[in-house]
Amino acid sequence: MKRCLLGLRVVVVVVVVVVVVVVVVVVVVVVVVVVVVVVVVQKNHTGVGTDNNYQNLKDTVVVRDGDPTNVGQQVILPATYCGGPRYMFEELQDVMAHVRKYGCPDMFIKVTTNPNWKEITDHLLKGQHPHDRPDLLVRVFRLKLKQTMHALKNGCLDSVDAWLYNIEFQKRGLPHAHIPLWMSRDSKIHPCMIDAAVSAEILDKNQDPELFTIVTSHMVHGPCGALNPNAPCMKDGKCSKQFPKPFVKDTDMGTDSYPKYQCKDVQSGGNCTVKKLVGQNIP
Ligand SMILES: [Zn+2]
Repeated sequence: MKRCLLGLRVVVVVVVVVVVVVVVVVVVVVVVVVVVVVVVVQKNHTGVGTDNNYQNLKDTVVVRDGDPTNVGQQVILPATYCGGPRYMFEELQDVMAHVRKYGCPDMFIKVTTNPNWKEITDHLLKGQHPHDRPDLLVRVFRLKLKQTMHALKNGCLDSVDAWLYNIEFQKRGLPHAHIPLWMSRDSKIHPCMIDAAVSAEILDKNQDPELFTIVTSHMVHGPCGALNPNAPCMKDGKCSKQFPKPFVKDTDMGTDSYPKYQCKDVQSGGNCTVKKLVGQNIP
């Protein structure tokens, strides 16, 4: 009988120990899961709960600059709020995804509203000016932009792999769009195509004297640098536009920015001109 009771006690003790161990294990697992979830949620909610986004609120409470009970209602604008910081961050991520997949864009096109477009002037009431009708301006711009994008994607250019655009109202002015385009592999832009459309060289004076005068009067940077330290482009003793730029024998597409246009020196067949600065001639 005594042996039977002893055996029963041992069984009860073992069961209790097992139950305690199981409970402890379950509690530990739950705590670990909760901690992991909290860390992941905090990481995914960019900005939420971080010091940087609520620095002013934190200052109010910590520095006791005012009554903490009267700091207003905290509002976090979601990414679906157009123009908000989270919305802009998502848009940025989309753009960078394009760059990661397709590389740098091949073209950058701007479309700007012209307030004298016929579609706008035809619909102004008597005495109205285009700037009186922002509703009309944005609608016409939107339609023109849609048509432009349709043309770019369907035949105007050879083959477009990807595109996107961003509409801005700079200084509350007329809307305009920035459109980066990624061409397909067979339609990439070659230096000869750039040379056919763009020239960064001083042309032969005898070939077209009028154009030569226009280019040398309006399209030549400087003089700046040591020759003219007071030029408006000078910052910290250097030209902020990186002039003078090195001569380039052949147009180079570059790797991460604008192409380097052909601009030969005189020995390689290029032309030159003379700029005048307070009475002195600078070649
Ligand atoms: Zn300069």
